[in-house]
Amino acid sequence: MIATLTGYPRIGANRELKFALEKYFRNEMPWQELADKAAALRAENYRVMKEKDIDLLPVGDFSYYDNTLDAAFMTGVVPSRYLGSGLSDDEIYFAMARGLQNQKADLKALSMKKWFNTNYHYIEPEYDGVNPLKLNTFFLEPLISQAEGEDFDCRICITGPFTLASLVRITDGSSREEFARKLIPIYTDLIAWLNNRGCQWLSLAEPSLVKDLTKDDTRLFTEIYSRLLEHRGNLKINLDTFFGDIRDVYQDAISLNFDGISLDFVEGSQTIELVRKHGFPSGALLTAGVISGRNIWRANYDETVRLLLELKDRGIRVAVGTSCSLLHVPLTLRNEPGIAAEKIRHLAFAEEKLAELRDLKAIVNGQEGFEQILAANRDLFARARTENDPQIAERIAALGDDDFRRLPARSRRQELQRKKLGLPLFPTTTIGSFPQTAEVRGVRRKFRNREISAEEYRRQISDITRDCLKRQEDLGLDILVHGEFERNDMVEYFGEHLSGFLFTANGWVQSYGSRCVKPPVIWSDISRKEPITVEMSRLAQSMTGKPVKGMLTGPVTILNWSFPRIDVSLRTMVLQLALALKEEVEDLEKAGIGIIQIDEAALKEKLPLRKSDQVKEYLEFAVPSFRLLESGLRPETQVHTHMCYSEFGEIIPWIDSMDADVITFEASRSDLRLLDSLSQVNFGTEVGPGVYDIHSPRIPSVEEITASLEKIAEKTDIRKVWVNPDCGLKTRGWKETEASLKNMVEAAKIMRARYDRSEAAQA
Ligand code: GLN
Ligand code: ZN
Repeated sequence: MIATLTGYPRIGANRELKFALEKYFRNEMPWQELADKAAALRAENYRVMKEKDIDLLPVGDFSYYDNTLDAAFMTGVVPSRYLGSGLSDDEIYFAMARGLQNQKADLKALSMKKWFNTNYHYIEPEYDGVNPLKLNTFFLEPLISQAEGEDFDCRICITGPFTLASLVRITDGSSREEFARKLIPIYTDLIAWLNNRGCQWLSLAEPSLVKDLTKDDTRLFTEIYSRLLEHRGNLKINLDTFFGDIRDVYQDAISLNFDGISLDFVEGSQTIELVRKHGFPSGALLTAGVISGRNIWRANYDETVRLLLELKDRGIRVAVGTSCSLLHVPLTLRNEPGIAAEKIRHLAFAEEKLAELRDLKAIVNGQEGFEQILAANRDLFARARTENDPQIAERIAALGDDDFRRLPARSRRQELQRKKLGLPLFPTTTIGSFPQTAEVRGVRRKFRNREISAEEYRRQISDITRDCLKRQEDLGLDILVHGEFERNDMVEYFGEHLSGFLFTANGWVQSYGSRCVKPPVIWSDISRKEPITVEMSRLAQSMTGKPVKGMLTGPVTILNWSFPRIDVSLRTMVLQLALALKEEVEDLEKAGIGIIQIDEAALKEKLPLRKSDQVKEYLEFAVPSFRLLESGLRPETQVHTHMCYSEFGEIIPWIDSMDADVITFEASRSDLRLLDSLSQVNFGTEVGPGVYDIHSPRIPSVEEITASLEKIAEKTDIRKVWVNPDCGLKTRGWKETEASLKNMVEAAKIMRARYDRSEAAQA
């Protein structure tokens, strides 16, 4: 049995690629220097993989920004507006990734979307039908050349045509099938090109196969691959699938004569059953994804070995592999001196997962010393990793229906809140954070490094907060926020005040391009150690006569942006978080905070990819957890929630049933189309569809915002409309923030004048 994987983190142990990219973006590093740095990072990765005895190394998984964008670029799926302005290949690529504004061009970036159910983002390719597709090996060639200079066997790992076709945005009116057929000759050219280079293996990543597929989809899949496989020549072709099982195409896939297929045995709940039931082609290589590419826990060798042996006993040629690319976990535990050895031994980041692949190979192959390896692993699992808190379990067991129901009904609460708050029509507010300037970050850094005392820190943060409130008052906003200056990050900040979390110093995971996140680890049962936001909220409220929203991150978002445990269910963790935060919400109310916002920015993230799994495996506990938080509040206390991605699709009724009083969400980029769907389901929550895009420094005009508000007013009960930007303002500067908000408040006033009059006329 051999060991392999389909992708490895590319950012570097100290985020070298991030910093090099950012220099290149600022024109402080030429393209060639960036390319050399990237090659050095890959060389280091190859060294580690060889050291860990990996037999088939991934090549081609490296990306300067994103693999889906790479595949689009490689096949010539480049909208014509990016061509013809005299840009070089690298400039075109990065213009698609992040926009380009200079003497040569003024181009917006393509849109960015969530990669399946991960927190990684991909660039949505766009096909406008203008230029014929054509193979472009600009980025691939250096990867292959480098691999040729090394002594290892490898697989060229690239996004496959079926997935590329399922993710592309087509703007010339042609169908997805037509587009996919246009890709076939390009991938055929790629195969010929790789054959010429003497490559052994091409592995095509097709994660779209784990979603619900129609008959047309499976037909298209078969058509694409029967044609590609005809042209394979000496190249072996592997079908790489991950993030679930491929129940809808398994039988088609095994009858296609692939040289290899990678299957996900970790997240693919039916994978083993599919193999048992339908078998696996003899002679083909089954890469068994048994080491999770998503979590950071050590694998239980007894369980994995049992599975690998079963496959072998079935006469299948097996390679041991990871369930998906290791891109989704941090690189190495070597840079975590702060975590006790007792805990470290239970964790595995990418590098440690390579060692696990080596171990499993040794055990299954019966190599010398395999008994010790197995014994050491058994020892790790012999005792529970952490003790559970019986009191928390009791509290969860005691929850009844009433704990998940806020009374009275929302429409009644909304009436009471309107009376109490006395807000005008089109009330204005913001999402929570205000510019995190160098000054603000400096204050937090000095406190962290003990350069200033706790008292001094509090004084400085409170000055900044007072200034922020004053600016909001001057702008004329109706509902204020404290600005979140004390928070480094909306998850880490809460994790630090809850028991059960473990933090890494360098556990960075790529989110998109040069952006990385550092998710905390949920280590044990969660409870609240101390009040988290109460002091800050009370202080802010004491500084102004206007209402200040209390602000916290919701349980689902904290869960989804952390590495979860695997010894308890997602449901258990969400309920623990909800109970902990419920205490916080109730303390805020007691402290006199009349409006509380619970951010659920990442509510949709772990929504199962298959419809049939969505309710039972997710929505059924994710949504009630929100109601648990608010069920003890007085009817006059107004509960807001905020979500970043308005791609709610069919879960709109679920979002309404969270039973918040008000929801603010991102809508400015999706043309407010969502409003139609909201009115269709009779959405009961008051809504603040973001009226401008905070991801850009551009200042929206009063007319523009008024026009959006008119559209909103047309489709929504105007007494339920809120006016706000589409997300927090922490990444913006003060200048554009104040200018934008000034226009927003002005637009709200214009709307009031128009509608107050018409309301009065009706009365
Ligand atoms: N309250 C948070 C903020 O304004 C919400 C951030 C988010 O939605 N990602 O920063
Ligand atoms: Zn947001």
